[in-house]
Amino acid sequence: MKQIPRRSLLHLLGGAGALTVLTPRALAGEQAAAQAVRAMPSPKIKDISVIETAPGGVRLTVVKITTDQAGLYGYGCATFTQRADLVKPAVERYLKPLLLGKPTDRIEDTWQSAYFSSYWKNGPVLNNAISGIDQALWDIKGRQAGMPVYQLLGGKCREGVDCYGHASGSEIQQVVDSAKNYISQGFRHVRVQVGVPGMEGYGAGGQGTAPMTGLVPGPVFEPAYYMRRALKLFEECRKQLPLEIELLHDVHERVSPNQGVQFCKDAEQFKLFFVEDPLSPEDIAYFRQIRQQCATPIAMGELFNSPHEWQGLIADRLIDYIRIHVSQAGGLTPCRKVAAFAEQFGVKTAWHGPGDVSPVGHMANVTLGVACYNFGINEYSPFNARAQEIFKGCPVMKNGYLYPNDAPGWGIEVDEKAAAAAPFGTETGARGQLNGGWGILRRLDGTVIKQ
Ligand SMILES: [Mg+2]
Repeated sequence: MKQIPRRSLLHLLGGAGALTVLTPRALAGEQAAAQAVRAMPSPKIKDISVIETAPGGVRLTVVKITTDQAGLYGYGCATFTQRADLVKPAVERYLKPLLLGKPTDRIEDTWQSAYFSSYWKNGPVLNNAISGIDQALWDIKGRQAGMPVYQLLGGKCREGVDCYGHASGSEIQQVVDSAKNYISQGFRHVRVQVGVPGMEGYGAGGQGTAPMTGLVPGPVFEPAYYMRRALKLFEECRKQLPLEIELLHDVHERVSPNQGVQFCKDAEQFKLFFVEDPLSPEDIAYFRQIRQQCATPIAMGELFNSPHEWQGLIADRLIDYIRIHVSQAGGLTPCRKVAAFAEQFGVKTAWHGPGDVSPVGHMANVTLGVACYNFGINEYSPFNARAQEIFKGCPVMKNGYLYPNDAPGWGIEVDEKAAAAAPFGTETGARGQLNGGWGILRRLDGTVIKQ
């Protein structure tokens, strides 16, 4: 226990010069009180920088906040891989001048300040920029306290977060075999995605060796072809995989609203863990129809920008899992609120965790996963060797569970030299030409459709 200098104590208690001699018991009481209300000196934001790296050919953005206290800093995920070059100036040219010199310990105040400062709010670039700041401040607070962030949220209510792996392939049997491989590693949940011959399927590779040609050159996708094939895949999975294995599937908003309703109805017999994004954000009014017609669990929301966009779907109990991309929604601060709100309605979490989330962002997902009672499932994307070299302290996978690092803050240290050695711009093909952006997808007749 830190001792209060006796002279200070006498001065403190002495009023206008009249010295008071404390009994040992009173002295101990005063010291205990001082200990209980001790305040750590508030660090100030000394610098804000942006680390950009692409260890797996996917552009990751991480914000680093340095404080005026020696050795105290933090990292936050700000990854918006399809428009990565825009996040950096949003941080450096707008949030940095706003926040330099401000205390790091007022996370809520900082979040609201940053959110309101642009006046026009709730876009993916600005939200990711805010997330970088927000998560870095949580990291700093954890480091200050000597605790992992999950302790700041109330501590663990489970030991690890149950994950699903991505089983995929251009042929149905390839997907089933890929799922078996995950199961052999201990996974209890597997997302299954299959390609359609000649088409650009989601989560299941490209067009193969014989691409279909539409009326416009380039990749094609037909929703009805895809739906029939996906249902066939579920049927085969149920034949070949143990009944205990939970199956997940991502429609990725690529079908019309009515097709989305039909797909969920048709999939009901296979008792999936969830169907993700059967509808796009523009069509959320159709969720009520899905609910009225089947019991297939629904996950939704990776494209939402504002926590308010989940409000109606949660309050009306139209979805089962909130599929939030934490940095896209503005970081840990808004997401823990959405999670708490969802808990009141029996809706669970399924944070978006693909390869275009940095390991810092994945740690935020896992942190929320162990700390929020209404955790549902965690998406797993392995960290390759290069990513682990850059981000030391990634969440650890064991038997299908991810475990957070127990070191203070996020428990992750970024090797900035190694990060610089894996720069942006290493993508091949269309993404390379489009500066990391995604290309154009069309139906056979040439109509552009959602990616
Ligand atoms: Mg998705």
